[in-house]
Amino acid sequence: MDYAEHVTDLVGNTPLVKLNALTKGVEPLVLAKVEYLNPGGSVKDRIAQRMIEAAEESGELRPGGTIVEPTSGNTGVGLAMVAQRKGYRCVFVCPDKVSEDKRNVLKAYGAEVVVCPTAVPPEHPESYYNVSDRLAREIEGAWKPNQYANPHNPESHYHSTGPEIWKQTEGKVTHFVAGVGTGGTISGTGRYLKDVSEGRVKVIGADPEGSVYSGGTGRPYLVEGVGEDFWPGTYDTDIADEIIAVSDADSFTITRRLAQEEGLLVGGSCGMAVAAALELAKRCGPDDVIVVLLPDSGRGYLGKVFNDSWMSSYGFLSPESKDATVGDVL
Ligand code: PMP
Repeated sequence: MDYAEHVTDLVGNTPLVKLNALTKGVEPLVLAKVEYLNPGGSVKDRIAQRMIEAAEESGELRPGGTIVEPTSGNTGVGLAMVAQRKGYRCVFVCPDKVSEDKRNVLKAYGAEVVVCPTAVPPEHPESYYNVSDRLAREIEGAWKPNQYANPHNPESHYHSTGPEIWKQTEGKVTHFVAGVGTGGTISGTGRYLKDVSEGRVKVIGADPEGSVYSGGTGRPYLVEGVGEDFWPGTYDTDIADEIIAVSDADSFTITRRLAQEEGLLVGGSCGMAVAAALELAKRCGPDDVIVVLLPDSGRGYLGKVFNDSWMSSYGFLSPESKDATVGDVL
């Protein structure tokens, strides 16, 4: 019989899928690493598993302990899923701007969710950074993974995502493209691919226009999960050969095209990474193999990127790309 002992045993080993329609007119092979096929629905399952196992080994997380983390999304799901298997309690802290749907996903996995006001500065006692610090101090047996500083975040990619891509492409990968949030994905995967190829593989970061990685100050942008207004410890500042800044409009247009033209219903940061990969592809040749990582599913963004009214309200939707109405069809 072929079965997993637990769903968390299925983290990783995600497939590579060729992009077809979107790559018309460019020479290289462009392959998407489809991370929504992880059991928790995102790339963050990988870091959750490794951060928890490392904390168990170091004794920071003990049986019956509580995981406290400021997270509203993918990392929380990964942590909650691994915690369920191992019997840990999870307390996640998120700002009130996070949609109720997202909070409910965390609760559905059995996590407790503490909601904090968004409209306070980070140093305010009620800010979600401070509340999570306080809870981590006050709850007995609490451990805070801190994905922005935890070396096991990039390490997890060095030991899983990187080797998978190398093996799946039989060492033919020439470029790796990923969005940068904590920087864990690009730093760990990129470092492995550079080590194994003796520096031949080029690593390209995709960043929302305005974020620090592409020279900005952290000006607000709408694409979620990527870009920062500070430099996290998990980002290796030497890893990227190039950073490509992508506008929200381009990120979201490509995200919608991925669903409609490639059958890949993925999140906005995926469209951003693919937009960067396509820009890179224009400068590459037929022997190049570009791998672009798609972090999560589009299901969490149906009310935003895939909603015409939301897109129109920001001026992202050109009239011809709107859904046909009954009037149009008649
Ligand atoms: N996309 C999404 C949707 C994310 O949640 C994240 C993680 N913040 C990223 C991309 C970026 O990954 P990383 O933190 O490894 O840089």
